[in-house]
Amino acid sequence: TKKLVVVTGASSGLGKACVKALANKGDYLVVCAVRDPEKMKTVADELGLPPSSYKIMELELASLSSVRQFAKQLKAFAANRSIDSLICNAAVYQPAKLVPNWTEDGFEMQLGVNHMGHFLLVSLLMDTIKKAKDPRVVIVGSITGNTNSIGGGLVWPRADLGTLGGLEKGGVKPVAMIDGKPFNGAKAYKDSKVLNMMTVNELHRRYHKSTGITFTSMYPGCIAETALFREKRQWFRTIFPLFMRYVTGGYVGEDEAGERLAATVADPACKKSGVYWSWNGNAKQVGVLKDGIVVGAGGAGGEMFENEQSDMVKDQARAEKMWELSTQLTGAK
Ligand code: NDP
Repeated sequence: TKKLVVVTGASSGLGKACVKALANKGDYLVVCAVRDPEKMKTVADELGLPPSSYKIMELELASLSSVRQFAKQLKAFAANRSIDSLICNAAVYQPAKLVPNWTEDGFEMQLGVNHMGHFLLVSLLMDTIKKAKDPRVVIVGSITGNTNSIGGGLVWPRADLGTLGGLEKGGVKPVAMIDGKPFNGAKAYKDSKVLNMMTVNELHRRYHKSTGITFTSMYPGCIAETALFREKRQWFRTIFPLFMRYVTGGYVGEDEAGERLAATVADPACKKSGVYWSWNGNAKQVGVLKDGIVVGAGGAGGEMFENEQSDMVKDQARAEKMWELSTQLTGAK
């Protein structure tokens, strides 16, 4: 039987490219966990995915009850087979918002979708995933958590979790920020991605030995043309890919980024747990400008390596506190 891989946010950008990469390998059944099943159907048709290579299931990460419902449905669907891997890829990025949006449970939207929803999902699926032969759980990270990047260290605002005062104050409306300070949309995104990476470290530390699950995070490279940047202005969407390609060298095309993410669950070389994978060197694509957006072909392709995480991501005392608070706030066990 095919290996079953769950991908959240499979209907766009990196998630979509990852589904394509896995489906093309032939020996995977991808559960596309999406908030809009109709959109996913259209995407699957566009990609020409063989019907036996995917299954669409609804997952609204801005609702903890939807996360519970999804986990239940998935387990029923996979009752007679294993759930081999989970890829937590979905995210929202709301840098232009002046006031926060809230999830059904009252979390600031980026905190709720990117971190809390996935935190609960991993917790609900772990007991089933651990029964698989080569079980893996991946949470997509961000450059924000690197020590060695321009994007992570210098671009304002910086991620800063403080002492997690916002989560301690209840973590829900009207408290938007993890550090309890006034709302800043771009920072809320970065903070949520730091929590994603800390979660992987804690999962590894707490559960790798007892479950055998490989827990990793990865930074795909800057996929400057995904819908993630939908709230940015057009000038930014034109300049940013060029900046990433020629100044930071971090640009990567969608297809290649999808291959990278697929590798984290499919490649024997990515079996090591507790790692934050990144890719070095030039992307395969050489950027050319088309309709104001960089697209490309050719080139050499990056080398995978174990990246260093920033001190904030590695701070274990804070990670433990984050774990306790996220557990309480989501009702995870
Ligand atoms: P996209 O916006 O293209 O994709 C995000 C996906 O998340 C979409 O499929 C979206 O669904 C889904 N999603 C958003 N909100 C919810 C929700 N409430 N419930 C369920 N699903 C939801 O962005 P990318 O592909 O660029 O981002 C994918 C991942 O890569 C993210 O984790 C991001 O942080 C990370 N990343 C991206 C980088 C980049 O350069 N693009 C760089 C570093 C990390 P829908 O299709 O319905 O909109």
